[in-house]
Amino acid sequence: MARFDIAIIGTGPGGVSAAITSKIRNKTVLLIGSPSLSSKLQKAHAIYNYPGFPGVSGQALADALKAHLDSMDIAITEDRIASIYAMGDYFALQGGKEIYEASTVILGSGVVAGKPLPGEETLLGRGVSYCATCDAPLYRGKTAAVVGYSRTEEAEARFLSEICSEVLYFPMYRDTPDLPDSVRIISEPVTGIDEQDGKRRVLTKTDAYPVDGVFVLRESISPGQLVPGLELDGSFIKVDRTMSTNIPGCFACGDVTGQPFQYIKAAGEGNIAALSAVAYLDKK
Ligand SMILES: Cc1cc2nc3c(=O)[nH]c(=O)nc-3n(C[C@H](O)[C@H](O)[C@H](O)COP(=O)(O)OP(=O)(O)OC[C@H]3O[C@@H](n4cnc5c(N)ncnc54)[C@H](O)[C@@H]3O)c2cc1C
Repeated sequence: MARFDIAIIGTGPGGVSAAITSKIRNKTVLLIGSPSLSSKLQKAHAIYNYPGFPGVSGQALADALKAHLDSMDIAITEDRIASIYAMGDYFALQGGKEIYEASTVILGSGVVAGKPLPGEETLLGRGVSYCATCDAPLYRGKTAAVVGYSRTEEAEARFLSEICSEVLYFPMYRDTPDLPDSVRIISEPVTGIDEQDGKRRVLTKTDAYPVDGVFVLRESISPGQLVPGLELDGSFIKVDRTMSTNIPGCFACGDVTGQPFQYIKAAGEGNIAALSAVAYLDKK
């Protein structure tokens, strides 16, 4: 398996900036995220505080960042990392599609919208999962629920419907899901997850739905869940001025390190994180 010098999680301005600097410093880069970069970029109508681009739309800024990556032959690996393990002198990254290896990691995964659902963290790994591709085989011929926080997650529900006997889909957004009849859509906001009689139950204000497994799918996973042993400051990753975390070789940038939530702050921290990762690699 190829081992990259630097793996970067997230394709927002933080991750993109980190990837550009890493590549300029001649490191092999694995940039993991989405071809459309970041929903936070796309949602902005007009941005007035990104130097050099007054009034630029989020989509136009995303296009410019993508063109910059393309011009430097930096590919985006479309995947979602479910967990990252420090293995001593390298990191193993569990993606939905495969496992990756890298000598250093830069976390630029943005902020997690909202708090975990009541019961979610307690039952994680015991019937609650963040990765359909990783854990779907556990629910072959069984019932599964998907709590989807964006339309992207509909693809995961479709995939699960090919494996599970029944899939319940709880959209946590306003749009009407576009799913095959084999997926039962339940448009009731989820209030929690619990377990009873060996089953997990998805709780809404009016009902409780027993299933074998629950997939809670968001754009971002909380950093503490992503990297076991990572030191946090509240819900953010604790970093120093070099964007180093408490885990040697692991760096972070952007919203994931705390406020202010700003494009230019994310991009600036991405640059620092990449330079620190390069210095760490060179020292080794
Ligand atoms: C509507 C709106 C308007 C805004 N307007 C402004 C503005 O005018 N000016 C300003 O400065 N800021 C603005 N912001 C804030 C700005 O969007 C954020 O501060 C910025 O996007 C943070 O960048 P980031 O790189 O840290 O993370 P993000 O842009 O959030 O990107 C994180 C990326 O990581 C990916 N990711 C997360 N977890 C994983 C995983 N496990 N595996 C793989 N990929 C993962 C996500 O899919 C995403 O691609 C606005 C935000 C919104 C929502």
